[in-house]
Amino acid sequence: MCCRLIVTVVGPTVLDFNDGNNNDFQLSTNPSDLARASSDFGMLRGGVAPVEPAAVFHPTSDRDIAQLIRAAYQQGFPAVSARGHGHSINGQANTAGGVVIEMSRLAEGHADGRIAEEMRYVDAWGGELWIDVLRACLEHGLAPRSWTDYLYLSVGGTLSNAGISGQAFNHGPQISNVHELDVVTGKGEMVKCSEEENQELFHAVLGGLGQFGIITRARIAVEPAPQRVRWIRVLYSNFSTFTRDQEHLISLHGDGRNKFDYVEGFVIVDEGLINNWRSSFFSPRNPVKISSLGTDGGVLYCLEVTKNYRESTADTVDQEIEALMKELDFIPASVFTTDLPYVDFLDRVHKVELKLRAKNLWEVPHPWLNLFVPKSRIDDFDKGVFKGILGNNRTSGPILIYPMNKSKWDDRSSAVTPEGDEEVFYLVALLRSAVEDSSGKTLEYLSNQNREILRFCDESGIKMKQYLPHYTTEREWAAHFGEEKWDRFNQRKTSFDPRRILATGQRIFKPVP
Ligand code: FAD
Repeated sequence: MCCRLIVTVVGPTVLDFNDGNNNDFQLSTNPSDLARASSDFGMLRGGVAPVEPAAVFHPTSDRDIAQLIRAAYQQGFPAVSARGHGHSINGQANTAGGVVIEMSRLAEGHADGRIAEEMRYVDAWGGELWIDVLRACLEHGLAPRSWTDYLYLSVGGTLSNAGISGQAFNHGPQISNVHELDVVTGKGEMVKCSEEENQELFHAVLGGLGQFGIITRARIAVEPAPQRVRWIRVLYSNFSTFTRDQEHLISLHGDGRNKFDYVEGFVIVDEGLINNWRSSFFSPRNPVKISSLGTDGGVLYCLEVTKNYRESTADTVDQEIEALMKELDFIPASVFTTDLPYVDFLDRVHKVELKLRAKNLWEVPHPWLNLFVPKSRIDDFDKGVFKGILGNNRTSGPILIYPMNKSKWDDRSSAVTPEGDEEVFYLVALLRSAVEDSSGKTLEYLSNQNREILRFCDESGIKMKQYLPHYTTEREWAAHFGEEKWDRFNQRKTSFDPRRILATGQRIFKPVP
């Protein structure tokens, strides 16, 4: 039956919304709701007034979401976007003049009765934060297997991209660790999908940038939770040695092999370890003087690995680590080790957030750039970017670099990795903050530098792909996906969101009037 959308103004900040089927909802136009929905972690508008949605919707169930979208699909708003935790950089969760669905609030008090210990999965609400998923799982001695570095992100938000961290080499990204989804499509249909059922929608939504449906529930694979973590950092002055060791460590993936549980790394292009998210680890008792280490072009590389363990296996963990470390060729005097509870390791970036918040350095512009670089060109990237464009320059934020195995990614998903048949590609993440201080690293300066890096890749023929992509024209999006994937992306859009009303903040499609 066709529903008619009736919107009446009830008060200065509330619109009463009836879909013509006696379903009544209230949409908020409260200025604080609108302001929250129109801002994000990126804070990139630099003084320009934010583009506001017309209203914000606080659903109480997935049915509410379905009814709202059905009404919008049949005749109604120009667009509807889910907002998880708003930790995008370029307004991806916003929708100018449309309705933003605030996914996060429903998650409260949603913890139990959804963990199947024997089946090894947890059911999470799409707006739930990963930190809450972790806490609920730990009560049952379980934990998801694949993570992001920061846990104050929503399940639906990271699954709409990929969700990567140092476990991805072994378990794949978070989107490779999902058994089943409940999705509300762009037609307002509530659909359960998995590898067995509605397979096309399942793969479309994973890494789908919110284009095909709103994830209301995700069934996520879990494993017995480790209790503690041995966390080790070692330094390299030679890039080829650093990447050779990283690639060796990620080749050890698979069951039953002695391997690290997490492999990442970062680049140190200056003495500015202070003010760097990752700096707290280098304790005052272990001062790192880069100048004393004899660097390659002024740049150092830090390999970061962990080994998880339970107290019952604490005896063997040292031997296992020793065996793995023996195969590496880092600077001998540069081993930094710490030991901490598993949850503290996973939640490490939040501690840094609290410190930066205390110094008013968290809510600042973040012109972040994340790239997937093919292994065969990572040396060229090092020379051109780390030692070239960024060399001897205070960085104003961490620069991560770590490899992943492509075979752990499912090519049927919408996520994009470098084209070709190379098994290994690298994440390079420039996670920089624009802070108005004497360093001169303004938003304009860092944004120009990002453009210079992209231009360098283009001119050097480095066929990288943006992770958390930001493009504004159809030509750029088509190039990002590549011909085959772009065709499939368009077909999926036509099937699941024919009026193109979902997640318009990604700027891929415009709504069909
Ligand atoms: P939002 O910004 O709210 O939304 C992002 C997109 O997803 C929007 O298009 C939105 O419409 C859509 N969306 C949101 N919820 C849903 C849903 N339920 N169903 C369908 N679509 C939805 N990423 C990594 O992979 N690894 C990291 O280690 C990592 N670390 C980060 C650290 C910080 C401090 C920050 C700010 C970001 C980090 N990210 C990382 C990036 C992060 O994963 C993405 O930006 C993610 O989209 C943020 O989740 P969110 O809940 O804030 O999403």
